[in-house]
Amino acid sequence: MSDYIVKIVPKDPACKIAEQRLMEAKLFIETILSCDSVTIEFYESPQFIDCGSNLDRILCPLCGAVLDMNWWSNDVSRAYENHFRVLETVLPCCGQIASLNDLKYDFPCAFASCAILIMNPWSMVEEEIIAYIQEVLGTEITVIHAHY
Ligand SMILES: [Zn+2]
Repeated sequence: MSDYIVKIVPKDPACKIAEQRLMEAKLFIETILSCDSVTIEFYESPQFIDCGSNLDRILCPLCGAVLDMNWWSNDVSRAYENHFRVLETVLPCCGQIASLNDLKYDFPCAFASCAILIMNPWSMVEEEIIAYIQEVLGTEITVIHAHY
């Protein structure tokens, strides 16, 4: 059995949303969607929110080069040492500086300090639902589609 998890996170990796807003969004999702579960997670410092086996490649946001996965995992380990509080890095392709959060992950991934996880939704999480959740949370969000 494989799992499909829709992960909703704030666009800003450092953004911490009040628990009350997250609970309100969770209740809304539970009312409108059939799924295995909806859970809320809080992290002390930003965490890498992955898309599981959906991650095919990572591109440089500045020059478009395909980034080496070994370079990326080494660089993420380096950033982890400061608990992902500093995400800026020097890109190996063009020597420019970008945040690890802004790399072009295909499918999208992100760094975040909280998340709403929708486990195995039975239907598509429609745009209108995402728009409403964004309104409830009061901040711009990224939606990550993860397969395991
Ligand atoms: Zn580059």
